[in-house]
Amino acid sequence: MTPIEVEELGKYFPGKEGPVRAVDGLSFSVDSGEIFGLLGANGAGKTTTLRIMAGLLTPSFGRAVIYGYDVAARPEEVRARLGFLATETGLYERLTPWETLSFFARIFGLSVQEGAQRAEALLRRLGLWPLRNRRVGTLSVGERQKLSFARCLVHDPPLLILDEPTAGLDVFVARTAVELILEAARGGKTVVLSTHDMHLAERLCERVGIIHRGKLAAVDTPEQLRDELGGEDLGEVFFRAVEREGLSLDDANSVR
Ligand code: ATP
Repeated sequence: MTPIEVEELGKYFPGKEGPVRAVDGLSFSVDSGEIFGLLGANGAGKTTTLRIMAGLLTPSFGRAVIYGYDVAARPEEVRARLGFLATETGLYERLTPWETLSFFARIFGLSVQEGAQRAEALLRRLGLWPLRNRRVGTLSVGERQKLSFARCLVHDPPLLILDEPTAGLDVFVARTAVELILEAARGGKTVVLSTHDMHLAERLCERVGIIHRGKLAAVDTPEQLRDELGGEDLGEVFFRAVEREGLSLDDANSVR
């Protein structure tokens, strides 16, 4: 079964000057073990798409089908199989990293022993072991981001949805995050991530969807897109794809 099928997905938010078309008819699918990147400028619709896929927002039209479940109809089936990394970490400030991971492991049905093993392995891997008994409220932004990463992996879900997975991380931790994502995919997990970092997308993603103003301008492997559109790197490919589709580049200048 294809783990992810997104079909003509759309989300309009009410706005003062008419509806904001955050997502406007996206379709794509992602295979098992694949790392798929949604690439786009600020405000392109990436987070909205990922939040719909994670069952946190209902679409205005179309649907996201994950492991055969329509997310809007069966969000609990999807959440059980999903690790979701949001840009705002939403951690409980009064818990410690150790308590955070143990708590989420229990929520997802791991035994105390399994939860402890996974928590320790992840905390060590991400350099958080010495901080395991500090309150989350006292951690730095990057340390919280690392803990969020650990939280989304703690129950060993088959699907990872990662919104800007390396944002706010220093180069060392970003490298660990990249390794964890690659390992997850090698182990058969399916990964969907968003980024406006072209280099990250090139390093990690088997296929990318270039999203602009809620529409997909192109979906393919980075190599294929480069061959087809003729850019030197994904940044150039991004601009060419948007131009090819006749979409305005006015607010696409925040792509690195
Ligand atoms: P970024 O890279 O800046 O995080 P993004 O690609 O993730 O951007 P989204 O957060 O999905 O973009 O936003 C897409 C569009 O929808 C933007 O124009 C945004 O202002 C708008 N939007 C998002 N959420 C809401 C909301 N709750 N109400 C109104 N407009 C919204």
